[in-house]
Amino acid sequence: MYPLRNARDDLGALVSLEMGKIRTEGVGEVQEFVDICDYAVGLSRMMNGRVVASERPGHSILEVPNPLGVVAVLSAFNFPVAVYGWNLALSLAAGNATIWKPSPTTPLCSIAVTRIISRVFEENGISGAVASLVTGGKEAGEALVESPSVELVSFTGSERVGRIVGQAVASRFGKVILELGGNNASIIMPDADLSLAVPAVFFGAVGTAGQRCTSTRRLYLHREVADEFLTQLKTLYSSVVAGDPLSKDTLLGPLHTGSACDVYGQAIEKLRSLGADIITGGECYQREELRSGNFVKPTISLPKSVNPKDDIWSTEIFAPILNVAIFDELEQAIEWNNAVPQGLSSSLWTRDVRNVGRWIGPSGSDAGIVNVNVGTSGAEIGAAFGGNKSTGWGRESGGDAWKQYVRWSACTINYSNAAPLAQGVSFAS
Ligand code: NAD
Repeated sequence: MYPLRNARDDLGALVSLEMGKIRTEGVGEVQEFVDICDYAVGLSRMMNGRVVASERPGHSILEVPNPLGVVAVLSAFNFPVAVYGWNLALSLAAGNATIWKPSPTTPLCSIAVTRIISRVFEENGISGAVASLVTGGKEAGEALVESPSVELVSFTGSERVGRIVGQAVASRFGKVILELGGNNASIIMPDADLSLAVPAVFFGAVGTAGQRCTSTRRLYLHREVADEFLTQLKTLYSSVVAGDPLSKDTLLGPLHTGSACDVYGQAIEKLRSLGADIITGGECYQREELRSGNFVKPTISLPKSVNPKDDIWSTEIFAPILNVAIFDELEQAIEWNNAVPQGLSSSLWTRDVRNVGRWIGPSGSDAGIVNVNVGTSGAEIGAAFGGNKSTGWGRESGGDAWKQYVRWSACTINYSNAAPLAQGVSFAS
């Protein structure tokens, strides 16, 4: 009756096995897919166009949404189920067919999901091909990106590949949604409730081994609370149990690939060479049973430079490394928050409503996700999800995101016996 919902735990375990995130996060990802399906069912009755007043007597103007046709979904390894779910549910509700090209390193999740979805279609008299799957790497992605039969390319991945995809789709005047890298900051004010803020930063920085687009990578601490915050955060870091992501006690699974470990190692080396204080972590696990996996220690570093334009601050390192800087005024922290190329998620911890007003207003955070007393990661499906600047300006999931999956027509209808031109233009000899 509910094939996806019923498969939640098994599929969640498969996500955990193939991607490496811990089981509860794998299951949570499938739950997100279930949630967006429920959401899209309701939304399908509310995908309204509108009637616009006309300046001409006896005329009506309608704005009408129609399906686009074929939507290609190109997705990243770190959310091998949920990101497809966001796109599939909205795209289907809008009347489109989809072709999914998942990450080449998570084919099992995509095959399992596609089998579930196609069974639902076929039981309802619809061809399973309406939600097709193409596995493969770069070449398969390129074929979809370049195909004039694909009206919309929804791409989730790195800034590097997103730039290539964005340019390729634009060069054939196609439509594109880009959901790219994040470099997300949390700001802790002196009046923050540390009993909430410390665990939230811990989850944001260490959860999914730092492999979420919304992972907390930068932490700006007000001088008055910096020592206390770091002491409490270090205590949580020391409690991390690394190991088999399917095991109930594990908090930290491996990085997804060996090359991600190299990226982690190079970033630590760079931080050390620039004189950063590595407060905790900074190496791979040495325990025998972890040495053969890609297990790296979650790291907190205090770089010497607080210039956010420096590489160590301005690039997304897809690993559990948290860089910390200390500030005296909120304006300074907001400036640092905004000074990086990416603009996905951000989080301010305060009880002072004046700080909240500044943070969410025109001189506040320039990210797509601007949280207050909520960490940078772990979004719900109800609000549109996405980021600004080099994160790509795309929006998926809730809010008005569905409006990107349709083609809009402005239809002016004349039901009078005259044919006046707009703006009073006269064209008679
Ligand atoms: P990636 O850019 O390496 O790959 C993403 C997808 O693009 C894969 O399916 C890949 O096969 C395909 N691809 C690679 N080259 C291509 C090309 N030339 N043309 C077409 N397709 C091509 O990303 P990744 O390493 O799998 O994922 C991690 C990245 O994804 C991180 O930067 C992360 O922040 C980002 N991400 C962003 C969001 C978001 O919503 N903003 C969500 C999840 C992940």
